[in-house]
Amino acid sequence: MKRTACFFIASLALSFSCNAQETPVLLRHARIIDGNGGRPAENVDMLLRGDRIAAIGSNLQAKDATIVDMSGKTIMPALISAHSHIGYVKGNGSSPANYTRDNLLLQLDRYERYGVGALLCMGTDRPLIFSGFRDSSRAGLLPGARLYSAGFGFGMPGNPPAAAFGFDKTFTSGDDPEIAKQINALAKLKPEVVKIWVDDFGGSNPKMPEPVYRAIIREAHKHHLRVAAHLYYLADAGKLIDAGIDIIAHSIRDMDIDESTLKKMKEKHIMYIPTLSRDAFEFMYADNPAWLHDDFFKASLEPGVYEMVSSKAFQDKMRNAPSYGTIKAGLATALRNLKKIHDAGITVVMGTDSGATPTRAEGFAEHLELQLMVQAGLTPLEAITVSTKNAAQLLRCDKDYGTLEAGKKADFVVLGQNPLTDIHNTETIEEVWKNGKKATSQASH
Ligand SMILES: [Zn+2]
Repeated sequence: MKRTACFFIASLALSFSCNAQETPVLLRHARIIDGNGGRPAENVDMLLRGDRIAAIGSNLQAKDATIVDMSGKTIMPALISAHSHIGYVKGNGSSPANYTRDNLLLQLDRYERYGVGALLCMGTDRPLIFSGFRDSSRAGLLPGARLYSAGFGFGMPGNPPAAAFGFDKTFTSGDDPEIAKQINALAKLKPEVVKIWVDDFGGSNPKMPEPVYRAIIREAHKHHLRVAAHLYYLADAGKLIDAGIDIIAHSIRDMDIDESTLKKMKEKHIMYIPTLSRDAFEFMYADNPAWLHDDFFKASLEPGVYEMVSSKAFQDKMRNAPSYGTIKAGLATALRNLKKIHDAGITVVMGTDSGATPTRAEGFAEHLELQLMVQAGLTPLEAITVSTKNAAQLLRCDKDYGTLEAGKKADFVVLGQNPLTDIHNTETIEEVWKNGKKATSQASH
């Protein structure tokens, strides 16, 4: 049995490498949004050789190429979510016990079906992925979206995310020698960034003290690792920026951002991940949104979640929760802050917090995020750049991904309708390509 499997993998690898040299693919007459933010190229061809883009231009020719007519289609880079969580949800629940190889593969496949080519799991990964899985996934050797990891993050004892994800590595003092030890252990896993939670979760929990995050940032920087902070309050954003934070991993939601914070963010090249859909999912179900009964939304869910979120009991509970109004107002503030931050020339990066709970729909969330960014005042083209090129820059994989240019990897989405005329058209996915090939979903539906 084992030998058969090995033989199968060997022949697969051989056929891939043969194809890479022998059969170019020529996609003709497409509209191409390349991710760089310029106007799309109309009626152009894209030539693929192996897993890379060989050329983009008019009337390209290639001997023996497989020709694919893309008339009327729009091609854009695969989306990248720089803040998601993977492996925890199953059915209506979320648990560290669900973090298995099979569940990870199922969810990476789901992201890919939704045109998400890569995601950064923001600080909730477990040892399982660090003995090969993450590296293979990132290199495109496993099916589904490419998995990038922030390893395991740091919160406060018993605070909501740390407790939900089963993490117990917490510090209460900046002098704790465990900080250097834990960052050292984390650095060995080669994470993209270090994740910290700096929040009192609506006053219900102790917030990570400033000396603790200062020590974490200092130790992370010794290893040349960037630090990304979960936060909520403008005041914390200011202190974190002064402490040397690199990435703000959620929107500032309590107040409108002021000029001096904008200036500091710009000067220090802070990257900003708004995760607008995270907040939307916390109250929108109660408002019966237009998308609730769409197949595009429903197909992204774990079994039982649609029945739950469309039930009167769930919607009533959400609407009557004391936090309902605050969360709604928080999103409105987040939308205003996003526009100001984007206009100030700060690098905004797409992230959603999808997969942290079953109601933060993996794959669908990334499209809702694009729509919310446009609602905030970004143009569809700007929202797409944030979700492709900028996200690849955050993951430092922009040499290969995030834009469609000669020499880059051929990871892209084929859309039936133009998303620049209506951002909802990113949902008209007809094909997802990865490594220069049309990806075939492993899922039965
Ligand atoms: Zn998160």
